[in-house]
Amino acid sequence: MRNTLGVLVSPNAEQWESAKRISREGWRALGEAGLLSLAHKGTDFLHSAIFLEELGGLGYGGIRASVAVHAYMAVSYLHLFGTEEQQRGYLPAAQQGRLIAALAITESTAGSDLRQLSTRAERTGGGYRVTGEKLYVANGSQADFIITLARTREMQGSRGLTGASLLVIDADSPGVSRSPEPMLGWHSADICRVRFTDVPVPTERLIGRRDQALLHLVHALDFERLVAGILAVGGVRHCLDLLKGFVREHHVKGAPLGTHQAVRHRIADLESSYDLIRHYGYRAAWLHARGQLDTYTASSLKLRATELAVAAAQTCLQFHGARGYAADAVAARLYRDAMAGPIAAGASELLRDLVYESA
Ligand SMILES: Cc1cc2nc3c(=O)[nH]c(=O)nc-3n(C[C@H](O)[C@H](O)[C@H](O)COP(=O)(O)OP(=O)(O)OC[C@H]3O[C@@H](n4cnc5c(N)ncnc54)[C@H](O)[C@@H]3O)c2cc1C
Repeated sequence: MRNTLGVLVSPNAEQWESAKRISREGWRALGEAGLLSLAHKGTDFLHSAIFLEELGGLGYGGIRASVAVHAYMAVSYLHLFGTEEQQRGYLPAAQQGRLIAALAITESTAGSDLRQLSTRAERTGGGYRVTGEKLYVANGSQADFIITLARTREMQGSRGLTGASLLVIDADSPGVSRSPEPMLGWHSADICRVRFTDVPVPTERLIGRRDQALLHLVHALDFERLVAGILAVGGVRHCLDLLKGFVREHHVKGAPLGTHQAVRHRIADLESSYDLIRHYGYRAAWLHARGQLDTYTASSLKLRATELAVAAAQTCLQFHGARGYAADAVAARLYRDAMAGPIAAGASELLRDLVYESA
């Protein structure tokens, strides 16, 4: 798997970073290699866990986010709650890399607090008309279908997400517009703002139970945290390998940097934390494979793995000195990419709340 990824991704990675997206040929090659159709559940999910770790280990946050959103986070809603017709219509083409998926949940005032959701899907004769604006949507410009969350019922006096539903929207529907949102890192993730203006969506595009999205999100968000956590574990490994290679070669005060105790101890702390979180990641994957993943485990993994990735990237940049701070330095890209981890797919503070509440 590592070799296949190395052949399909590594030679193209810099080009995808500049183009701000994975090429269509790249998607199809990943699909043909079977890397977009690995299992979402059961013991075969452990193949996915290995794939996600290897994907994270390539060292490009944007590429790993783009692939994971497409092949795991977005399509998980269809796998879990989609009708047979929806699954037939979207999944085979997505697995072959012919159709690209995006997940558009976040809004300007509804990120950590989805209760502030303002996108609306009003009932019409044949389905819904969707109006609203979604932010920071990975795969935004090239997505062929977009899984989104909208209010389908106004609930007077009630709080929360009651009355919200999940919909799959074809991106070429009238009223869908998209514009790039340049980010600090994750350059190849194709992050966009997506506007829905009176977008007609047929009833058959409703995913799961109408007005009951909250029930579905509970499962899907734990899965998303699991995926994000394992990707981050791979990212930490990549970063530590770069750092250890550098401190072996670079000399300060007449000796390799890695012989200085301050450096060795810092790397030792990161290595042992990596080892712990990697084991925890596979434990979480195993729980998921058995249908037993819980919010505490998924949140703890995502929280700790993404924060460790930031610590590793910061240390990596620090010990590279000024050459690591150069705009085109690998250490600088790793740092920029790592900083998105504790925000995207659930900010660390929200996860700490969840860990506290579910412990
Ligand atoms: C690179 C990137 C890619 C993304 N891709 C997607 C995508 O494909 N689809 C999508 O729908 N969304 C995507 N997002 C959005 C992401 O899911 C949200 O950023 C995230 O849910 C946090 O929401 P917010 O940014 O609106 O922050 P807010 O909810 O406004 O929070 C701001 C900050 O407040 C703090 N905070 C939050 N909650 C609490 C709390 N309970 N207690 C104390 N402090 C708190 C956190 O530090 C947080 O970062 C992406 C984000 C990034 C950065």
